[in-house]
Amino acid sequence: MTTVLVTGGAGYIGSHACKALKAAGFTPVTYDSLITGWEDAVKFGPFEKGDLLDRARLDEVFATYQPVAVMHFAALSQVGESMKIPGLYWKNNVMGSLNLIEAAVDAGVKSFVFSSTCATYGEHDNVVLDEMTEQLPINAYGASKRAVEDILANFGEANGLDHVIFRYFNVAGGDPEGEVGEHHRPETHLIPIMLEAIDGKRPALTIFGTDYDTPDGTCIRDYVHVCDLVEAHVLGLKWLLDGKGSRVFNLGTGDGFSVREVIDRSRAVTNKDVPYEEGPRRAGDCTKLVSGSTRAESELGWTPARSTMQQMIEDAYRWHRTGHYNK
Ligand code: UDP
Repeated sequence: MTTVLVTGGAGYIGSHACKALKAAGFTPVTYDSLITGWEDAVKFGPFEKGDLLDRARLDEVFATYQPVAVMHFAALSQVGESMKIPGLYWKNNVMGSLNLIEAAVDAGVKSFVFSSTCATYGEHDNVVLDEMTEQLPINAYGASKRAVEDILANFGEANGLDHVIFRYFNVAGGDPEGEVGEHHRPETHLIPIMLEAIDGKRPALTIFGTDYDTPDGTCIRDYVHVCDLVEAHVLGLKWLLDGKGSRVFNLGTGDGFSVREVIDRSRAVTNKDVPYEEGPRRAGDCTKLVSGSTRAESELGWTPARSTMQQMIEDAYRWHRTGHYNK
């Protein structure tokens, strides 16, 4: 069977990707430091513990499994933290990725799938965010991801490393079969925090800023279901293995939801009110990030069928109430 090295396979998106890869007939080998991941989320293939900054360990794992491709999820991904401790983001996300890319090239890998982010676009007034939009990140997280995109472009030219770059919008929801789900420690994302507040696991959700230039004053985001997102990765991998070459794809639905709208939608799913308070803006947050591209649909044949807000909250809530989440 065709082996794919999945960095961050013990994390939220990586573990869902491993499940999708296995279902598609690939063997996903997880490479994860477990700094933010969970070993018991590695259920769909072998596990190798290691850090991206450990070149010798990476070489060992490439030699053992000889993967045909790499799917690179492992990264720090908190906007707020990246504004407070940017060095962490440059070291882990940029130096770690460079190390991985060099190890992959030296091991003869020709196909690389990379998790990038809509945070690379930054603030654009009245501009449709498609793959050609100028990347002007306003936080260190987005800057670190844009830097890795540049590294990949250079290695693509110089070393024939074909790469698919996915710029994610906001990922939410969980595996409908409940085998894996979202579990960050500490949690910083809107939907899980909202569910924790609903169930009394925290006193309240704080809305970060109510004075944005949006209809209700709160930030607008485009939410995509994690299962749809990882299906796009399988399609992107096949695209590369079919020799179609390097390409960038936005992964979003094109529908924007404000923080207040997400809160309102949750009532219909949980039948409970969200205890919330209004707080100041979080440093680094863009006003509005909504995809304006259908390239993934038209070129990859991607259909984000599960990405309704109702479904994402429903799937997240089911996972949220399982014992695993409460570890
Ligand atoms: N948000 C919020 N309170 C929270 C967490 C997030 O108001 O406790 C807002 C945040 O400011 C942003 C949106 O919810 O506008 C989504 O944030 P999240 O951290 O989930 O994802 P990001 O957009 O940073 O990738």
